Amino acid sequence: MLGAPGAGKGTQAKQIASKHGLAHLSTGDMFRDQVARNTALGELVGPIMQAGSLVPDDLTIAIVRDRLQQPDCRVGVVFDGFPRTVAQAQALDQLLQDLHGKIGLVPYIVVTDEEVVTRISGRVTDQKTGQIYHLKYNPPPADAQLFQRPDDREEAVRQRLREYYVKTEPLIAYYRAQGVLKEFDGALPIEEVFSAIEASLTDL
Ligand code: AMP
Repeated sequence: MLGAPGAGKGTQAKQIASKHGLAHLSTGDMFRDQVARNTALGELVGPIMQAGSLVPDDLTIAIVRDRLQQPDCRVGVVFDGFPRTVAQAQALDQLLQDLHGKIGLVPYIVVTDEEVVTRISGRVTDQKTGQIYHLKYNPPPADAQLFQRPDDREEAVRQRLREYYVKTEPLIAYYRAQGVLKEFDGALPIEEVFSAIEASLTDL
């Protein structure tokens, strides 16, 4: 999944993975898990994430390489938040070649900056289920245990957007050149974005 922070990558990736029995590989979730468990890696990446910066490529590629060896990845994987740099995309190409896999589709969810800021400022997660909601557009149930991601603060969001434009946006050209990129209008309701991606998956 490609798209700016808050484009809806996580929401869509979880639904697609669950519908097709694929592994959902979110590097952001993996790093957040390391932080929550106070591991050495977590201590290293925690402050980087809080600031809205990107974790170094070598650490990111290593965690993905390990994860891809796990049996649930054999059927297929929905990558969410990875790759985020050209170096990561090149490493992924190499990893897939080694594992005899290939990229089927790179859904690029297009949203405006304005939309990103509105969405992220209202974004909350249910601690129990991991489900992502928006206080206004996709309100959580009354019994949800809500928390806001620390990097959803305004200053961190600005930094994440800067990182996105400088380091991640070049991937749009990278995957377009491979003929696997397809754009989706991220301003549409969640279910409509989902159906559009689904339709493209069945075309594969
Ligand atoms: P996400 O949940 O995908 O928005 O990721 C949250 C944060 O984790 C990012 O702002 C980065 O600090 C870090 N992160 C997640 N994925 C990557 C990646 N592929 N490369 C570098 N940093 C990442």
